[in-house]
Amino acid sequence: MKNHPLQFLLDQNKMWAAGMTQRDPEFFKKLSQQQAPDYLWIGCADSRVPANEIVGLLPGEMFVHRNVANQVPHTDMNLLCVLQYAVEILKVKHVIVCGHYGCGGVRAALLDNRDYGLLDNWLRLIKDIALEHETELNTISDPLKRADRLCELNVERQVANLCHTAIVQNAWNRGQPVQVHGWIYGVGDGIIKDLGIAIKKQREIPEVYRIKPET
Ligand SMILES: [Zn+2]
Repeated sequence: MKNHPLQFLLDQNKMWAAGMTQRDPEFFKKLSQQQAPDYLWIGCADSRVPANEIVGLLPGEMFVHRNVANQVPHTDMNLLCVLQYAVEILKVKHVIVCGHYGCGGVRAALLDNRDYGLLDNWLRLIKDIALEHETELNTISDPLKRADRLCELNVERQVANLCHTAIVQNAWNRGQPVQVHGWIYGVGDGIIKDLGIAIKKQREIPEVYRIKPET
């Protein structure tokens, strides 16, 4: 259809598919048979943080879940189903929570008190983290730097939330190797910073969250 406002996207897709096939004629044939990614990426929906692209991975190499401000709420059926599928069926070895500096969701939660409607319920979880770390955050006078620190704290919390799920703990208790990592991406320089979190066993989480192995 000519003059379709999205025609250029469909055209670019054809060019992309042709380029991929040129490099590897079997590429799509192999992918159509199975996916076997080693990684689950949980990132922000922000258009500046395209998961596969920034880590140089091809289709088939990373399972991806994205939402506003890379949240891991225990009541989010969507997130939990993605996590369960990735861990129990695909048997990913690494789950990566990747936040990013300058996150609009984190800034909205911390820096203004506007009524965002439905979104406020989602951002509330970030406000809870801000309140818990109020003393530290208040020592940072530049509001954007303060929000960036909250972006890091948010990643730490979401890593913990992942480790507190029965999905991750049951995998550990079965002896399945799953590591949960916390990263943060700089939209201004394209570089990912590893926050130095790599949790891989139940002993690393507080006792109150531990779920006993099935007997
Ligand atoms: Zn964001």
